[in-house]
Amino acid sequence: MSFEDEKQKFLNMPLEEKRSYYKSGVTTVDQIPTWPEYWEKNKFNIPKTLENTEKVDKVIAKKISIWQGDITSLEIDAIVNAANSSLLGGGGVDGAIHRAAGPNLKKECATLGGCRVGEAKITGGYMLPAKYVIHTVGPQGEKPEKLRECYENSLTVAKENHLRTIAFPCISTGIYGYPQRPAAKVALSTVKKFLLENKDMDRVIFCLFLKTDKDIYEELLQKYFTLD
Ligand code: ADP
Repeated sequence: MSFEDEKQKFLNMPLEEKRSYYKSGVTTVDQIPTWPEYWEKNKFNIPKTLENTEKVDKVIAKKISIWQGDITSLEIDAIVNAANSSLLGGGGVDGAIHRAAGPNLKKECATLGGCRVGEAKITGGYMLPAKYVIHTVGPQGEKPEKLRECYENSLTVAKENHLRTIAFPCISTGIYGYPQRPAAKVALSTVKKFLLENKDMDRVIFCLFLKTDKDIYEELLQKYFTLD
């Protein structure tokens, strides 16, 4: 079967049947607390931020989640892949996504003509719980404008495809060496701006693989998404 047929097969498959293909456990969006729920539960254990705080409407704050785990287990509309410009697979989160999606993901990626730094391109999710994968290529080292483009363009691609739930890994902060805290600031400020300007996204999940990233996001969410 061609990858196009496989892609449609998985996109149209009843959920129960699709779940039999997953390589890992599955987490659904309603199992992931929103930021206000997370804050209510954990506020006495999270160190207070020393940053200036920016209040947001609760409607916006409820569209954000932080979640520690493997992005390949999320059963949502799209997961973002921190890919390299060949789009042919690599290490880190890219390798994990390709392993879980199966070989057809690489076949589809091979037709896309690569991806420039900051760009984003969409493929099917195949055997992943996520329907789609949005591939973006982060900068190597601390280049805020390029990292901002990764988040913006990934969200724009999601919007163009009418996708309403999306998860990001910490793009560029692994093999590509972007320092974690400045990268988290770019991620949070860019996503916040997008959510304020676009009402049709239901949930943006920051998938934090490392405890150090979880600590950074817990602190910085207080800055960008302060609740009343
Ligand atoms: P980059 O080349 O953009 O730096 P990496 O894959 O090396 O990409 O790292 C990006 C982030 O993804 C790091 O925080 C890393 O810990 C995290 N990561 C690695 N594997 C997974 C996974 N299975 N799910 C979610 N995040 C992951």
